[in-house]
Amino acid sequence: MSEVRTRIAPSPTGDPHVGTAYIALFNMAFAKKMGGEFILRIEDTDQTRSTPESEKMILDALRWLGLDWSEGPDVGGPHGPYRQSERGDIYKDYALELVEKGHAFYAFETPEELDQMRVEQKEQGLAQKYDGRALNLSQEEVQAKIDAGVPYVIRMKVPEEGTCVVQDMLRGEIEIDWAQVDMQVLLKADGLPTYHLANVVDDHLMKITHVIRGEEWINSAPKHILLYQYFGWDIPTLCHMPLLRNPDKSKLSKRKNPTSILYYQRMGFLPEAVINYLGRMGWSMPDESEKFTLSSMIDHFDIQRVSLGGPVFDVEKLKWLNGMWIREDLSVADFAQKFAEWGLNSEYVNAILPLIIPRVETFSDVADVAGFFFKGQLDVTAESFSDIKMEEETLRKALQFALWKLEALRSWEKDKIFTEMKSLAQAMEVKPKDFFAPLFVAVSGTTTSVSVFDSMTILGPDMTRARLRHAVNVVGGPSKKETKRWEKEFAEL
Ligand code: GLU
Repeated sequence: MSEVRTRIAPSPTGDPHVGTAYIALFNMAFAKKMGGEFILRIEDTDQTRSTPESEKMILDALRWLGLDWSEGPDVGGPHGPYRQSERGDIYKDYALELVEKGHAFYAFETPEELDQMRVEQKEQGLAQKYDGRALNLSQEEVQAKIDAGVPYVIRMKVPEEGTCVVQDMLRGEIEIDWAQVDMQVLLKADGLPTYHLANVVDDHLMKITHVIRGEEWINSAPKHILLYQYFGWDIPTLCHMPLLRNPDKSKLSKRKNPTSILYYQRMGFLPEAVINYLGRMGWSMPDESEKFTLSSMIDHFDIQRVSLGGPVFDVEKLKWLNGMWIREDLSVADFAQKFAEWGLNSEYVNAILPLIIPRVETFSDVADVAGFFFKGQLDVTAESFSDIKMEEETLRKALQFALWKLEALRSWEKDKIFTEMKSLAQAMEVKPKDFFAPLFVAVSGTTTSVSVFDSMTILGPDMTRARLRHAVNVVGGPSKKETKRWEKEFAEL
């Protein structure tokens, strides 16, 4: 058998998600155990949502966890470039190859026509998918449209009947009716590939032997299998891992649990403990030990020990495990060093001190003024907002809307944060000074702290958002009924 090669293929469209680290870990453990390679590819074909900042955060976060890759956009390798946006016209050429072979076709419908088609399908109680109308065009008609410059996409053909059998390493045979599978767009009107085409082409060219990914991709497997067959390529072994869940068993979401790896870094978790905890998501060591290192996980790795019941990502359990790591594995000197790297490094301290110095008379005042920079979640309760002069509903909305704004903010700079919050205050017709007061409480615990915008900048997006989320929860976020109304109001601001 050829050398085992696995990959993590993140799309750089947001924060580095713990789910990405979890899938990366299992890919890495599998490849290393088999003496193979684990590589990283950036899937940034969605140019409107992908950002270089997000890519950098993802690479930094995975590296912080010790999930090193042997080929990738930053380290190079024999199958590069490893960033899809840099891979030129290859995807287009492959799409055209499929057209030529009769496995794909040009389609010229406008977005409005497609919407109309779906509306009609819905009315008739039919499955909403592309109905294949462009397949009726003659070759001459197609050519005439292309020559006339009519925008087009390229779609793949899909069998109308029968079932696709997906072989999964953990799940065995999964049967999916072809009738459920859409004639997927492979090449978009802008000439860029969709995820499906780029993913299959790159997995093939990068010689990936095993595709280990989240179960949310199961329904894409028939399209991918078909593409491999159309191209005449070997299909990699597929493995769909169970999704991480919140303690209430819903899909892990930032509303209920911080999902950004950077949050856990900012909270002062040890990367070894986070990796250990992710390794326990649906998997266990042969001796069932709770605490293990990445290298012993690799030594004992067997993918068949993954159990499919949704693994629960519980921050309290992670904390408990981290405590064990701290007590059992760090000498006082190690602790001192790691603690200093985390919170007393000169970059962090030098950012904080200029805010603190004007407010202290002695060194012993520092802890009181600056303490919130070294904490995780604050002890903020509904009572903490009792001095805020705002109607209760306005207060609840101000905090929720501020959180929504800050969740959408891509670059975390003081001026941007300030401008966003000021314009939100104006839009909500609250004096900026009054509007900022609850933000002070949420972020620093008091209304009298140092500048809230400096504090947010220094604390970073993850900690700031987590504290705001906590504040929203203690004052009462929108009820089910209110959510729709608030979202609408927010969108109209
Ligand atoms: N870019 C996809 C993602 O962000 C990769 C999915 C896959 O592994 O095929 O999850």
